[in-house]
Amino acid sequence: RSKDAGGGIFHAYEPQLHAAAEERRVLEIALRSALKNDQLHLLYQPVVDAGTGALKGFEALLRWTHPEFGVISPAKFVPLAEDARLIAPIGEWVLRTACNEAAKWKDDIRVAVNVSPEQLHSPNFVNMVAQTLAQSGLSADRLELEVTESVFLREGTGTVQVLDRLIDLGVRLSLDDFGTGYSPLGNLSRTRFSTIKIDRAFVQDAARNVREAVAIVRAVVALADSLGMATTAEGVESEEEHLMIQRLGCTRAQGYFFGRPLPVEEARGLATGDRASRAA
Ligand code: C2E
Ligand code: MG
Ligand code: MG
Ligand code: MG
Repeated sequence: RSKDAGGGIFHAYEPQLHAAAEERRVLEIALRSALKNDQLHLLYQPVVDAGTGALKGFEALLRWTHPEFGVISPAKFVPLAEDARLIAPIGEWVLRTACNEAAKWKDDIRVAVNVSPEQLHSPNFVNMVAQTLAQSGLSADRLELEVTESVFLREGTGTVQVLDRLIDLGVRLSLDDFGTGYSPLGNLSRTRFSTIKIDRAFVQDAARNVREAVAIVRAVVALADSLGMATTAEGVESEEEHLMIQRLGCTRAQGYFFGRPLPVEEARGLATGDRASRAA
């Protein structure tokens, strides 16, 4: 069918689009019940000191195991949850689960939780975070909330105020996937981020000695240093990549080279130093 013949509204009837919409609808209904039916769980990926390799914390990563479709990636269902207005309850479940878990860990191990823009802008978000911290007993400075630069794309929604109120609670903020999106450096001066997470793409290219990538990582580390922020290199997969980001002065590192996202019991074993629970 040509565009001319179809026009705007007829596009909706193209079989392919119809299939995609149908799939979305099916997934959306399934997602609604996933929360109730215990189909969501978190994996915890180690974050280490880039110099010493010592464990510093874990990033909580959401997984959905659907009875028919199997494990569905957050990259696929988080946008769906945002559209379906399910991100607030799902995000609340993630935060509660991660805080309750981290409260069991040694008190020098932090937990990082991803927050989507839609969730950050949902009413009552800051109060929900405060309540969750209080109920879990986790001290605020052990919680790190990760947001991407896209939170700043919505002007007039009070983003900076929400972030300031989170900082007032004592939680740390990380700027996730730095360098992949819309990145005016001014965003760094609008909010006191604790950490800039340098996207895997730069880590990869820097280790291959791509000149621009090396220069960018070096500049981001210098910028972070002078603003009193830490840097985390994301997606470090090899020793070469580790050596490069170490040489470039990144504070922390995360990636398959140090550890895959782990089931909760395994993470707990590492986070409590309890080898028995590691084997469990
Ligand atoms: P992210 O926050 O940037 O998380 C890092 C992603 O990189 C994770 O993918 C992780 O499994 C993957 N990764 C870690 N190390 C390596 C590595 O060495 N190599 C490669 N190639 N990949 C690595 P995952 O778990 O599939 O999550 C994808 C994205 O989904 C996350 O990106 C985050 O934006 C989002 N997400 C995950 N959990 C949540 C959640 O609870 N809430 C929200 N709103 N978003 C979430
Ligand atoms: Mg993240
Ligand atoms: Mg990231
Ligand atoms: Mg990333």
